[in-house]
Amino acid sequence: MSDYTIDMRDVRFMLFEVLGLEKLAEMAPFNDEELGQGKEMYDMILDEAYKVAREKIGPVNEPGDREGVKIVDGKVVVPEVYRPVYKFLCENNWVAPSAPAEYGGIGLPETLGMAVSEITSGACIALMMTPGLTLGAANLVKVFGSDEMKEKYLEAMYSGRWGGTMCITEESAGSDVGASRTKALPLDDGTFHIEGSKIFISSGDHDLTENIIHMVLARTPNAPKGVKGLSLFLVPKFLVNDDGSLGEYNEVRCSSVEEKLGIHGSPTCTLEFGQDDKPCRGYLIGEEQKGMKMMFQMMNEARLYVGLQALSQASLATELGIQYAEERLQGSSFKEFKNPDAPKVPIIDHPDVRRMIMINKAYTEAMRSLLYSTAYYTDLAHNAEDEKVREKNQMLLELMVPICKSWCSDMSFRVTENAIQIHGGYGFCREYPVEQLMRDVKITSIYEGTNGIQALDLLGRQVPGKGGLRLMTLLQEMNAWVAEHKDHEQLGDLVKEVDQGKNKLAEVAFSFAGAMRKNPGAVLASAVPFMNMFGDVMGAYHLVHQALIADVKLREMAGSHGAADDQAIIKLANDNPEIRFYWNKTQTARFFVKNILPNIEAHMKSIKAGDSSCLDAVFAS
Ligand SMILES: Cc1cc2nc3c(=O)[nH]c(=O)nc-3n(C[C@H](O)[C@H](O)[C@H](O)COP(=O)(O)OP(=O)(O)OC[C@H]3O[C@@H](n4cnc5c(N)ncnc54)[C@H](O)[C@@H]3O)c2cc1C
Repeated sequence: MSDYTIDMRDVRFMLFEVLGLEKLAEMAPFNDEELGQGKEMYDMILDEAYKVAREKIGPVNEPGDREGVKIVDGKVVVPEVYRPVYKFLCENNWVAPSAPAEYGGIGLPETLGMAVSEITSGACIALMMTPGLTLGAANLVKVFGSDEMKEKYLEAMYSGRWGGTMCITEESAGSDVGASRTKALPLDDGTFHIEGSKIFISSGDHDLTENIIHMVLARTPNAPKGVKGLSLFLVPKFLVNDDGSLGEYNEVRCSSVEEKLGIHGSPTCTLEFGQDDKPCRGYLIGEEQKGMKMMFQMMNEARLYVGLQALSQASLATELGIQYAEERLQGSSFKEFKNPDAPKVPIIDHPDVRRMIMINKAYTEAMRSLLYSTAYYTDLAHNAEDEKVREKNQMLLELMVPICKSWCSDMSFRVTENAIQIHGGYGFCREYPVEQLMRDVKITSIYEGTNGIQALDLLGRQVPGKGGLRLMTLLQEMNAWVAEHKDHEQLGDLVKEVDQGKNKLAEVAFSFAGAMRKNPGAVLASAVPFMNMFGDVMGAYHLVHQALIADVKLREMAGSHGAADDQAIIKLANDNPEIRFYWNKTQTARFFVKNILPNIEAHMKSIKAGDSSCLDAVFAS
């Protein structure tokens, strides 16, 4: 049995008590009787996912990290321990449970898919990246591919028999995707010869699947410069015959794999397309020069998935930090600081350790709430019957994607770092799992568009775009929520603080247009502080919303036990896990509002200062 653990109570609270996930089961396409979707089924899937994560995936996390990826006889070889687990995932439909039923999946809502991914990715993100990317690539084919492509590739991809990748980055085209130079030259038969080099391609080559289907951005002859000239191609490692069997090798060669800080078990490859004499065949997906637009779909999904990877590591780090702090004896209680004979206490009794634990718990639960809610926006944006509901949720989805990716990955790194701190010297050593979490999670702030680029997207596109309607939609929703809850007896003070935070956020957001005309450099340098401010306000909003729901249950349960005040509830919470859960929900929200939300004052002050010293400093190079 592995050490992998996740707070399933919180996962369920978020899915069923906050979002009411079972309501989605009444909506097409989830309400198909044959699928049998509903709370019972969702609960069962969550239980099974947790079992698979603990018993199958978790145990290979640390050995896979140690073994890493190698090139043996020219072939990319993943850690040996991954092989049986990957086979198990394929055979038991864990690669893409949210895939449509017609391609072998269960057609689950995105929101449940998100929870399942959190549970399984948390156990080993390096291994679970291969199914994650395959799902994203398959979804691109499902939405934009021709019927023939769907027929040929989808079942094999969704089942995990074939892998999928996203090939965007080149040596001189990282953040600047428009600088891509990979060429797509038309061939007589309507296909294209792909020629160029892509770097840092996750799961770009490996021996887990019999074929790999690459989604490649490339430029056709005479296409304009920049992202507008890019087209999207499906490029298989092995060509696929009409009957679905594998044909010839398609000249996609892995020339090297990266040695990295973390995710050692994930092959990060440099891929050479069509560098020899033979053609490397690519099949155009959708229209020419619309590649970036389509890739954005995969990137949006992938960005949510990256936020989720970040959450999954933060979640495990939080649990491990609590476990360790409850076991590790060191020092005596601050309440007995004058008593030299005072007994040793677990470090969880020390206020500073509790502070670190609460930071971790608060960020983790806020991230989970933000990510699952954003996945819920996706479900409603795609499936709600009412067009207005679809539009509203699409707005919120677009606004939240960069925050889900960036804020969650930055905060998750902090959480894992805090978990090391909680472990003291042992946290720095490989004997304990938390150092791996910090190494593994670091990549989430870099790939899928660095957090700096995400912040620019939020500030420059998502907030001002569509005439500011995305932000207005969120502000309206929050205003209605404040009006409803500001006089709440126990939590009204927190609601009012969220309201003030929201107003400050809006003030800063609306100031950018004018500031941009006067001092664009300073505004662009404010993008990350703005992102952090946005994330902190959203975190507080989500946690206080959760606390309001928890408080109703808490009062009911406490009342039935005759507990009239907080002290009586705390007493009950020691022995009653449900009361403990709901009580802690209220305390976590309070902690976030009182200890983390005030960070927005500092961000606001620095943004409003419009300081340009970072632009004026002179670096000699
Ligand atoms: C382990 C790993 C896996 C990856 N997997 C994939 C994959 O599967 N597919 C794929 O296509 N790519 C993948 N990538 C590539 C990844 O997406 C890029 O590394 C990332 O987009 C950044 O590009 P870069 O490394 O060239 O950095 P650069 O673009 O050179 O950025 C360096 C720094 O400059 C900043 N910067 C750059 N331009 C600007 C600007 N205009 N304004 C403000 N700041 C800027 C960045 O924010 C960053 O801090 C992977 C990378 C790694 C390390």
